[in-house]
Amino acid sequence: MSEENKRTEIGELGEFGLINQISKKFENKNSSTLIGIGDDAAVIESGDKVKLLSTDMLVEGVHFDLSYMPLQHLGYKSVAVNVSDIAAMNGKPQQITVSLGLSNRFSVEAVEAFYEGVRFACEDFAVDLVGGDTTSSPTGLIISVSVIGESPKDKVVYRKNAEEKDIICVTGDLGGALMGLQVLEREKEVFKTNPDMQPDLTEYEYIVKRQLKPTARMDLIFELEELGVIPTAMIDVSDGLASELFHIATQSQLGVTIYEDKLPIDQMTYNTAVEFKLDPATCALNGGEDYELLFTISQSDFEKIKNLPDVSAIGYMDKQENGLKMVTKGGNTVPLEAQGWKHF
Ligand code: ADP
Ligand code: MG
Repeated sequence: MSEENKRTEIGELGEFGLINQISKKFENKNSSTLIGIGDDAAVIESGDKVKLLSTDMLVEGVHFDLSYMPLQHLGYKSVAVNVSDIAAMNGKPQQITVSLGLSNRFSVEAVEAFYEGVRFACEDFAVDLVGGDTTSSPTGLIISVSVIGESPKDKVVYRKNAEEKDIICVTGDLGGALMGLQVLEREKEVFKTNPDMQPDLTEYEYIVKRQLKPTARMDLIFELEELGVIPTAMIDVSDGLASELFHIATQSQLGVTIYEDKLPIDQMTYNTAVEFKLDPATCALNGGEDYELLFTISQSDFEKIKNLPDVSAIGYMDKQENGLKMVTKGGNTVPLEAQGWKHF
């Protein structure tokens, strides 16, 4: 086949390869564009501060399944996942826009339920809904949210400035959202074959909530501000810890060493992984949608934050030539593979 007719499947490039390919063709022309494509949010100069801009799309059948996702939770989650990207820049969110593609399956009441969730999130994260767009869609629901945040210029935290020997920290616990999804998918299958069976999810309440109603860790941003600590690099965990470590390492031109026994895994996540015959550490490394914050911090600053109750130190930034690796509970060193979520 000639070059002109060549067809490359998106799957061959993957999500990150495709974004790279797009970004290579564009050059920023405005001096106010401090950072464009490649971090959790774009960074735009605005007086002595910067504006942070991020956008995320949620597509029915890809990111959510309405057979178990209540619309109210979906509204909340759509905002939270965007706020999380502003938190990942050490910023404060201020305004959002919400755009919907709706098929005729959806009633006014359904849209109202969705916006109830949006409103709760606006209250929790102190953001204003300032616009959006509404259109029809042939099938299913498409949600696109954009968020604008703000930060003093010298407090913005990028993915690229981690330094060798910095301590790698993560908030909360990992893998819960993935295990919640596994439980919900299993119950859906049971319900399909036997509609009289009502799922009892009380036993799995925490992990189901991690999947259906994640929050953004703005609490850490306020705590860091109070302590006067600025991480050297930060990213939110949307695609899985391994994938996010890969972004920080690549952009900072360093390697990573983490310890399996330091991975924060909730007991319910652990037990459910075992129940599903999955390795809990693999779930913590590759499970997406936890929306925790992964950050690196200089050893001197680590002293100031080490007593924060919901932060775990999991390893350190290493020399680039040492690559990304994990020391297992058995004392072996294994390479980290960034699987992330593959949509394509
Ligand atoms: P996150 O997981 O933090 O939301 P993504 O992996 O979605 O980040 O995106 C990484 C970077 O690529 C971001 O800077 C984002 O704005 C940019 N990006 C993603 N998709 C596109 C696109 N279609 N065109 C231009 N930039 C994109
Ligand atoms: Mg992000």
